[in-house]
Amino acid sequence: MAVPSPENASPAMAQWFTLKAQEPDALLFFRMGDFYELFFGDAQVASMALDIALTKRGTHNGAPIPMCGVPMGAAQTYLSRLIKRGFRVAVAEQLEQPRKGQKGPLKREIIRLVTPGTLTEDELLEAGRANFLLALAQGGRRRNCLGAAWVDVSTGHVETLSLPRAELAELLARLDPSEILLDPALETKDLPLRPGAATIRAPARLTPERARTRMAAAYKVAQLDALGEFSDEEATACALLLDYVRRSQAGQLPRLQRPLPTGQAGVMGLDPATRQSLEILQARDGTETHTLLSTVAHTVTAAGTRLLARWLSTPSTDPALIAARQDAWSWLGSEARSQAGLAQDLRQLLRSVPDCARALGRISTGRALPRDLAAVRDTLHLADLLTEKLAPYRTSAMPGAIRQLGAALYGRADSLLERLTAALAPTLPARLEDGGVIAAGFDPELDRLRSLRDDSRRVIARLQAELVGKYSINTLRIRHHSQLGYVIEVPASHGARLKERPELHYRQGTASLARFSSEELSQLDRTIAEASEQAATLERHLFETLAGHVLDTPALDEITAALAELDVYLACEKLAASGRWCRPKVTEDTRFTLRACRHPVVEAALEHQGGGRFMPNSCTLPPAHYVMLLTGPNMAGKSTFLRQTALAVILAQAGFPVPAEGAEIGVVDRLFSRVGAADDLARGRSTFMVEMTETAAILNQAGPRSLVVVDEIGRGTSTLDGLSIAWATLEALHSQLGARTIFATHFHELGALLGRLPHLTAATMSVREWEGEVVFQHEVKPGLAGRSWGLHVARLAGLPAAVLKRARRLLAHFEQERGGAGAVGVQPLPLFTAGLQAEPQLPDAAPPQAAAEDPRHEILEAFLADLDPDCLTPRQAHEALYRLQERLKGHLGNSPERNS
Ligand code: ADP
Repeated sequence: MAVPSPENASPAMAQWFTLKAQEPDALLFFRMGDFYELFFGDAQVASMALDIALTKRGTHNGAPIPMCGVPMGAAQTYLSRLIKRGFRVAVAEQLEQPRKGQKGPLKREIIRLVTPGTLTEDELLEAGRANFLLALAQGGRRRNCLGAAWVDVSTGHVETLSLPRAELAELLARLDPSEILLDPALETKDLPLRPGAATIRAPARLTPERARTRMAAAYKVAQLDALGEFSDEEATACALLLDYVRRSQAGQLPRLQRPLPTGQAGVMGLDPATRQSLEILQARDGTETHTLLSTVAHTVTAAGTRLLARWLSTPSTDPALIAARQDAWSWLGSEARSQAGLAQDLRQLLRSVPDCARALGRISTGRALPRDLAAVRDTLHLADLLTEKLAPYRTSAMPGAIRQLGAALYGRADSLLERLTAALAPTLPARLEDGGVIAAGFDPELDRLRSLRDDSRRVIARLQAELVGKYSINTLRIRHHSQLGYVIEVPASHGARLKERPELHYRQGTASLARFSSEELSQLDRTIAEASEQAATLERHLFETLAGHVLDTPALDEITAALAELDVYLACEKLAASGRWCRPKVTEDTRFTLRACRHPVVEAALEHQGGGRFMPNSCTLPPAHYVMLLTGPNMAGKSTFLRQTALAVILAQAGFPVPAEGAEIGVVDRLFSRVGAADDLARGRSTFMVEMTETAAILNQAGPRSLVVVDEIGRGTSTLDGLSIAWATLEALHSQLGARTIFATHFHELGALLGRLPHLTAATMSVREWEGEVVFQHEVKPGLAGRSWGLHVARLAGLPAAVLKRARRLLAHFEQERGGAGAVGVQPLPLFTAGLQAEPQLPDAAPPQAAAEDPRHEILEAFLADLDPDCLTPRQAHEALYRLQERLKGHLGNSPERNS
């Protein structure tokens, strides 16, 4: 954003230049009266981004200053649009009111930097989605390592991680950060940072020592070790992050939770391609309606939805942790408790729980609204009610996770609850400035000031009645005037008479009325103004004291976390209660069985469209046969089967129920899914390049504990290349990596490997032919596909009849060449041998007898049918002939007789 030299600037512009220099990377919203104004390059950029008028205001060094502005009242909307587009905005406010005879510009300061990753306002955030700012730091001694730290400022959640550079893509896919802050020392050349993401360099480098000191100071501990073990790069990333957050809140660090050094251990590996292919939190097209999350999120609170999303995107590899989560929801849904309606009752209470985590975020950034304090009060109150509901079930059978929730929830902040209940008025205004936030009876001084203010108002009402009588003017009114204060207003016709009264002072007159003041009124005016001002000041003070109490209550973090967790368990309970989702057994070995498993998203879509029943399928990959070769035509349900298997693993290891009759899963350490790879045109790579890069990633990372589901490897190149690559990949997965694998392919030739690879089995999608139509049964059964059905599917898709006919002839020819229709790899590989032969003999492109099927006949027939020779003049007949010639010309290129 171009900023000219500040020399010779007018006083107001000089102030603009100073503030702009403080935040050169942000658009400066410069408050002027009722507008935020933007100047120079900022104005050009913002006017375009917001589609508002770009005008000029004054000149700077002889050139007009480009300017645009947004009104105060609509600022939030404009701000939100800029932030969504990745801009940062520095808000500079007027810190004083204009005074009479004031010289020079008003005092202004940047009170806040609004950036995509540091938001706290509900209007700018999505309720069920975390909003992360991610900081990345260069590894010190370990050059190949990165330090990562991320925060959701709206809830105060902070985590850190040390990771190899190669794993950054995975972390980015998992967190989907709104903003990325980079260590100035970080080499970014090979990092997968999207050019469009809001990325910014931190202004200054930090040594690890300084970083540790800063972190310790921010969290008020003497030594950083008190918080956990952080690597140098983790500490650097975290300290940069804290500095940036502090800067965004104009120097004040909001209350953040203690950072959690997470480590990758214990989390299932899911690379970006896998996440994209499985549509866990987001569909490929960026929408969120048909995703795994949307199908299972039966949560009733926003914080619950955010936690559920976090669990789904970080499935665990720890069977004990998984079992603990399963115990919790199984217990909630057990027969005795479901008869008592426990889950429903808890859910009903949870529905009223406000988003306390985000309210705390605003309270700690000094942007608390009255309703934020009410949110804390209501949360504490509901937490007590929830634990009371759970109390009768406290027996030795209560699982640990629920017991801990109960302990985190009950009576943790009684004194705060009492205080807030007593302090807050029963109905609250939207803003503190509106007054009336603190309840009557809470603070005697506030009550006194309020009654002084209100009494004086009553006195004024009484005085008005008195004066009406005294001066015999029924229309006399006492009104408050913005400049004159309280005045007596009478119709102009009475003005002259009242001017004679010594106790009244004439102040102002218009054509229709006259205004007077009196000593008594001025005294009342002063009393009311003072009392109102004092009441407002005291109310603000009481409010801030309450906010301080809230921030001094660390139990609130645990309470909000426990409520979110309970919500997630109840969502799981709801899935399980349908009777169609089971509790999977997750074990330390490498077994793998899913009985009658379903794809939850496709199933829901079918139900929604009334499109018939979803066909469940089992999937077994026992240690003796851990690789499955899956064949079958397009549209038969291969991708659905692959995806549902992968989704079942994610659900199971996130600790959730699984849409199946039964499931036993030996814990999966990394899951690779390559199903329906999308073109990566944005990054200028061809489909085949993307496919090979993703295959390479699997072959370089998968191991005996991994699960690989791949579809159509090798389809993006020539048949021979593709078959060879698929063949070699399957061999490697089977014999070198030993990964549990489902390998879906169109290359039936791979069937030849069945005899050679001992752990390979074959399965196919069953298809029936009925009255010449292909019927997909979506059922997986043992064996290889008998034939391909590609032409049937092509017909369903509406390929022109002539092309289909030609393809059928060619197919018959090719099949004859390779030794009989439906031949599958059990014979020597025909395609390989075909490749070594001279050019195969193709059938004649168009034998003469095919003339009857020449598409031009159809055109000719249609054309003639439309003509009535009796109604044509010779000239029209001539023109018709030309038209016909034109139409047939379009088909000449395809004509079998082109060369004849
Ligand atoms: P393929 O990968 O073999 O081309 P898909 O998995 O994309 O086939 O499935 C094609 C369509 O068939 C899906 O969109 C879905 O509507 C339907 N389908 C797939 N599997 C099933 C199933 N098990 N039960 C019912 N319908 C299914």
